[in-house]
Amino acid sequence: MAAIYDTISIIGMGLIGSSIALASKKYGLANHVIGCARTEETCQTALDLGLAERMETDPAKAVEGADLVILCTPVGTFKEIGTAIAPLMKPGATLTDVGSVKQAVVDALEDIVPADIHFIPGHPVAGTEQSGPTAGFSSLFKGRWCILTPPESNVYQPDIDEAEQALEKLKSFWMGMGSMVEIMTPTHHDLVLAITSHVPHLIAYNIVGTARDLETVTASEVIKYSAGGFRDFTRIASSDPTMWRDIFLTNKDAVLEMLGRFTEDLSALQRAIRWGDGESLYDFFAESRNVRRRVVEAGQDEDTPDFGRAHEDES
Ligand code: NAP
Repeated sequence: MAAIYDTISIIGMGLIGSSIALASKKYGLANHVIGCARTEETCQTALDLGLAERMETDPAKAVEGADLVILCTPVGTFKEIGTAIAPLMKPGATLTDVGSVKQAVVDALEDIVPADIHFIPGHPVAGTEQSGPTAGFSSLFKGRWCILTPPESNVYQPDIDEAEQALEKLKSFWMGMGSMVEIMTPTHHDLVLAITSHVPHLIAYNIVGTARDLETVTASEVIKYSAGGFRDFTRIASSDPTMWRDIFLTNKDAVLEMLGRFTEDLSALQRAIRWGDGESLYDFFAESRNVRRRVVEAGQDEDTPDFGRAHEDES
């Protein structure tokens, strides 16, 4: 496949950034990859792994001449990084990101990005609980959705054809890495992800916290009998604390809306247990089985988005 971009700049070389670097190299999607990380240590590891031909600790130095810049750092860093890089980007280039929330990203960057840059926020719904440059693998995005949320103002760009071409190019880039691409508004994205990813993570963090605080069941018993279901929560709750702090701070409204619904449903289950209402419990659980069946049929089971199990790179 001919390269889609000549030079891409990946700001943040963790799980997602390194996976993009590996996939774009493997599928020939970019001729040159420039990377950026906060520490010298990550820069050196990225160079040793061949993730980029040049690594910088200063984002401003990493975007010069790039046709595509992808923000792959925690969402809370986007405004500062965006402010530093936007004026230095090549006119006509595309700025995108992989942040797990979208309206906050639009709010943080929309006014900073010059009119001659195509700003197309994105979110690959794929991941594992691992972090850092050694966690990436080129097949991470295979068969997973990537949601793009071009802001309304995109369609009012001076040259609409050029804006559409930029969107098509970015779609081809993600499809080249094996993703399926969907276009959504940022707020709709945030609602969907609140229930499919953010609230499930909060529940996992909470249940692990509750188990940690138990006094009548010892910590060693919790570990010993974890195969009863608890271990799956511990895997999810081992996800990066900075990333998840930023997600809850920036998707507050949608998460609170979904948590409200969750709490109501939990109260109904609590009531059914209290009154020995086996029929209600059975019906509820049977419906849940159907949801699981549909997830499997959609090919989104096991190594799934933002929820996945670390696995070997399939070449
Ligand atoms: P990660 O593995 O923790 O890596 C974060 C990277 O960002 C590291 O290379 C880090 O550099 C760098 N970084 C942090 N602050 C920086 C700064 N101020 N300036 C420059 N570089 C900085 O993170 P990740 O899991 O790849 O997540 C990155 C983004 O992807 C987040 O926005 C997250 O919401 C999104 N996302 C994650 C998943 C997932 O499952 N993990 C899925 C979809 C989307 P150092 O190593 O030098 O500190």
